[in-house]
Amino acid sequence: MNEVFGRMLPLGGLAEGEGVLSPEDHLKALKARLQMELRRHVSDTRVLSALERIPREFFVADPFLHHSYDNAALPIGCGQTISQPLVVARMTQDLDITDRHKVLEIGTGSGYQTAVLSRLCRRVYTVERHAPLLKEAEARFAAMTLRNVVTREGDGHKGWPEQAPFERILVTAAAEDIPRRLVDQLAVGGLMVLPVGREGGDQEVIRVRRHETHIQTESLFPVRFVPMVEGLPDRPPRAAVW
Ligand code: SAH
Repeated sequence: MNEVFGRMLPLGGLAEGEGVLSPEDHLKALKARLQMELRRHVSDTRVLSALERIPREFFVADPFLHHSYDNAALPIGCGQTISQPLVVARMTQDLDITDRHKVLEIGTGSGYQTAVLSRLCRRVYTVERHAPLLKEAEARFAAMTLRNVVTREGDGHKGWPEQAPFERILVTAAAEDIPRRLVDQLAVGGLMVLPVGREGGDQEVIRVRRHETHIQTESLFPVRFVPMVEGLPDRPPRAAVW
């Protein structure tokens, strides 16, 4: 079937040997190649199998479908991007999640990272400031019947105080400093993984461990993420009704 979740795949056939691969086989071959690349950098088999089970093409915007299994970030609308698969895999591994954990995610975006987390933990609470992105992500969670994902439109700097504390927090937009209110919502002994740094400048993924009286931070690897932005976007003015 030349379709992914009801969408046509605008893929050219890939010549291989004597035959030409169908668009689905082409995508499958690219997926296998990416999976091999991930295995060179990520050892946690639970994380690898979660990425293998979540179809990234379902989260990618139509014009980029054939790039679904490139190891690259891709545009998703509202000036945002779906994260690079290797970065999703490494951040998820570094978060060290179990199926007992309640996880807070800031920056739902396409919902891809959320779906990966949902396979590995008890429940994911995910916050996004762009309503149109959140709506699309929610439709994907419903279509995939991910029952342990709860969403909220809002400014992730505020976290989700009613549900705190969280054993794990993952932020997928770069803050200039570690957001204080998120640390406050981390359980004692909990971990937060987040990119820190200026937009377009040097950023790195940091892991924060919360102790009773202090936090301990650790630098993990360099990255480039879209910025974590304060507040909600301006809504377009409503059309006048005549
Ligand atoms: N994890 C997402 C990555 C999306 S990019 C994915 O795999 O698709 C980062 C997302 O963080 C964007 O959607 C952006 O709108 C969102 N974001 C940025 N600042 C935010 C904030 N203060 N609160 C909530 N979401 C925020």
